[in-house]
Amino acid sequence: MNLQERDQKVIWHPYTQMKDPLPHIPISHGEGVYLFDQQGRKYIDAVSSWWVNIHGHAHPHIAQKVSEQLHTLEHVIFAGFTHEPAVQLAERLLPLLPGRQEKVFYSDNGSTAVEVAIKMCLQYWVNTSKAPRTRILAFKEAYHGDTFGAMSVSGRSIFTDPFAGFLFDVEFIDLPTEKNIEQLKSTIKYLSSDLACFIFEPLVLGTAGMRMYEARYLDELITVCQKHGVLTIADEVMTGFGRTGRYFSCEALKTAPDIFCLSKGLTGGTMPLGVTTCNARIFDAFFSDDKLKTLYHGHSFTANPVACAASLASLDILLNGETLSNIQRITAKHHEFAAQIRSHPKLKDVRQAGTILAMEWDTGTDSSYLSGLRNQLYNYFLESGIILRPLGNILYILPPYVISDGDLDYIYQTILSALNDI
Ligand code: PMP
Repeated sequence: MNLQERDQKVIWHPYTQMKDPLPHIPISHGEGVYLFDQQGRKYIDAVSSWWVNIHGHAHPHIAQKVSEQLHTLEHVIFAGFTHEPAVQLAERLLPLLPGRQEKVFYSDNGSTAVEVAIKMCLQYWVNTSKAPRTRILAFKEAYHGDTFGAMSVSGRSIFTDPFAGFLFDVEFIDLPTEKNIEQLKSTIKYLSSDLACFIFEPLVLGTAGMRMYEARYLDELITVCQKHGVLTIADEVMTGFGRTGRYFSCEALKTAPDIFCLSKGLTGGTMPLGVTTCNARIFDAFFSDDKLKTLYHGHSFTANPVACAASLASLDILLNGETLSNIQRITAKHHEFAAQIRSHPKLKDVRQAGTILAMEWDTGTDSSYLSGLRNQLYNYFLESGIILRPLGNILYILPPYVISDGDLDYIYQTILSALNDI
């Protein structure tokens, strides 16, 4: 049996209807922006392997640091013990974040980073109030992960439908616009006496189809929350580490959230790690002689030293001047291409945030994750040696920052051909 057949026998893939005839391509190795299959075919990873791989595959600096760490300390229980990579990563990460973030809490992935943030906020109110606030505010189309808490604060959709009865109630609001901002602010004010926190993906809602909204409106929402004591959580799991043109999307704001959730690009896409950071307001509410005010949360692999070493190596690369100029180069090239295709009759909308470029295909009906166009587009690009994984009829490019101008031009050219052919 070949690898594909062996896979089919024993593997259940994520976000995949296993009866789907689309094959799972066996990848043998990666290098930079490319992935290679077992036949030696080369693919441009234009979605950074689910948005995690920011510096390209098998980056030698990360590989070396991971290897050194593996030979030194692969893991240690993180309650009662600590280690250099975890402390150093927190020391380097906290000053990079907007506002005054004071503490890092480690977990395993984006969903767990969100779970920790939600638990910090709910218990904040239990620890500080006789009548704890219990409600959470989120965007109607938000996506924050696949565990139950993260699903609960995500918009209700085909992803959450089977579990609808098991999710806790959340107050959902529309994305802010010039038209609705005053009404949204009134809603927050009205709900605030029982509102524990507001969780949001800053400026770009990724899974919802790279939906974008303006920083000034988010500033207004955060300001009302702050005025009424509502805690704020920025889920930068996708937007963090340079993706939207700044190191963190919240750098575009005048205000700063109380909590950040980070993952994906954190380790340069090398291995799983989640981070939830918080400011002094949150941390101080748990700092007590009272054992019941403890955050009783932790995972076996909390602050895994190898994952922390990968993150430190990824930060080295992110913060060298070259990566920032690559981010600016990609942003400028996307901008040029966006202008070229913006009025194409087959496109309903073209939108960009830094290195993310999204194109919403007009299907004559509402945009949908289940759009039949999805597989057509996916296969078209795959046959051209490009991995693009549309969210329904919304095609987007979200490349590793090491992508060359030549490869970007090739992707743009292939999109133009697709617009012609499909
Ligand atoms: N939050 C956001 C904004 C995300 O985009 C994702 C993943 N796409 C998550 C949370 C969940 O992260 P993970 O898949 O690592 O659990």
